[in-house]
Amino acid sequence: MTFFEWVQGQIQEARSYERRSLLLTSMDELEKASISCAQCGGTCCTFVANSMQVTPLEALEVWAQLNDLSILEKLENCVRFYRLDYEIGTGKTNMRKTYTCPFFLKQNLGCPFPFEYKPYGCLAFNPVEVDSFQKENCCSNLTLLEKREGQFKEFENEMNDRLRQMLGLSWEKKDLPRALIDVYNCFKRLAL
Ligand code: SF4
Ligand code: SF4
Repeated sequence: MTFFEWVQGQIQEARSYERRSLLLTSMDELEKASISCAQCGGTCCTFVANSMQVTPLEALEVWAQLNDLSILEKLENCVRFYRLDYEIGTGKTNMRKTYTCPFFLKQNLGCPFPFEYKPYGCLAFNPVEVDSFQKENCCSNLTLLEKREGQFKEFENEMNDRLRQMLGLSWEKKDLPRALIDVYNCFKRLAL
C-alpha cells in the first residue's frame, strides 16, 4: 500500500463529511439569509484573526488534499515568519499565535480545500449579519463546535489516539503549518 492510499483509507474510514455536517448546515442557513463571505477578502484566514489549530485527524484530512510537496517550503516559511515554534506561555498553557494560513489564496473565498476536509475551526468562523465583514464582527460559533465535538467525541478520540500512536505524534492540537510538517516527517520516518 502506498503512502497516499494509506492516508485516503484513514480519511474514508473517518467519514469527513458526516463529522462536519452540523457546521455545514449552519453555513447553508446563513447563506440562505444572505449572510455569507461573498463580499469579503478573507480576513479570517490571515494573521489578523487566524490562530486555527487542528487535531491529528484534521491535519491528515488536509494532508490528503495536497498533491504538491513544494508546499513544505511555504509551511516552513510560515512557521519561521510567525515564530509558531516559539512558545509563549504561563507554564500551564501556551498562547495561541496568529498566522496567515499558508494555503490562503489572498482573494475572496480564497480557501483551496473542499468544505468536507476543512478544519472545524475554519468552518465555524462565520459572519453573524449581512455586513459583518465591514463591521468586523465575524466570530466562531463555539456552541456549535462543542455540539459537533460531543456528537463524535468517542470516535474522534479513538481515531486521534490511533493516529498519534501510529505516527508517533505527541500533541493533541497544533497550528496547521506545524501539524502538517509533523505529519510529513512522520510519514518520511516511517517510509509510508
Ligand atoms: S468569516 Fe468574516 S472575515 Fe471570514 S471570510 Fe467570512 S466575512 Fe470575511
Ligand atoms: S484552511 Fe482554508 S479556511 Fe482555513 S485558514 Fe486556511 S485558507 Fe482559511
